[in-house]
Amino acid sequence: MSHTPEINRISSIIGGTKQKVAIISSSINRQLSSRPDPYDAFRKNLVDLYDRMDNRYDQAAIHYGFVCSGCEENCCRTKFHHHTYLECLYLKEGFDALSEENKHTIIYRARAVHDAHSIADRNGIVAREMCPLNVDSRCLLYSHRPMICRLHGIPHELNRPGQTIQFHQGCNDFHDAFNATDYYPFDRTPLYMQMAALEKRFKAESGINQKVKMTIAEMIMTYHETDRHR
Ligand code: SF4
Repeated sequence: MSHTPEINRISSIIGGTKQKVAIISSSINRQLSSRPDPYDAFRKNLVDLYDRMDNRYDQAAIHYGFVCSGCEENCCRTKFHHHTYLECLYLKEGFDALSEENKHTIIYRARAVHDAHSIADRNGIVAREMCPLNVDSRCLLYSHRPMICRLHGIPHELNRPGQTIQFHQGCNDFHDAFNATDYYPFDRTPLYMQMAALEKRFKAESGINQKVKMTIAEMIMTYHETDRHR
């Protein structure tokens, strides 16, 4: 299965203005026109990396006896930005498998969340909108969720070269319940670096120069635009 037109369409939409979209789209089309589609080759690497993340997370969670069962703070209300084309494409695979009714509902919710984020930004307040994919406290695309969703909640460290190690305490519920428990070493750095390296290789092979910075709501809206122009 070739995903090249998919990559082109998504790439063309990520970027903001219509003019920018047109420039990026034609540029990517030129670069990809004579190349095989790289997404299929990279997809397996991404799934393997997600498996490693899930394993590391599970090991730490088991150490603490931590089970996320939903909470008031809810990480799905946090406005995360996601930064990789690969994850954007992988999430779209899950989105494409939803029923038409669910897709319709999710697109509607994504627009509402995006509007609420914009209003919050304009007013200088922190948005706490529920992710459009969270329905009845359940992620509709759990198996396809991005890296940040997989790693949230457990205390961890970041050990970037040339910088002091940064420790993060985990989500509030975790902190309240397990603060006294010995820290289980969980260095996210290698996982971040592997993701960055994978994305870099994918973009190089795809001829993509544009950076990605999107919320889940924006990704969903991008999928809708993509499908409309098929
Ligand atoms: S993608 Fe799923 S896990 Fe991530 S914020 Fe949305 S509902 Fe939550």
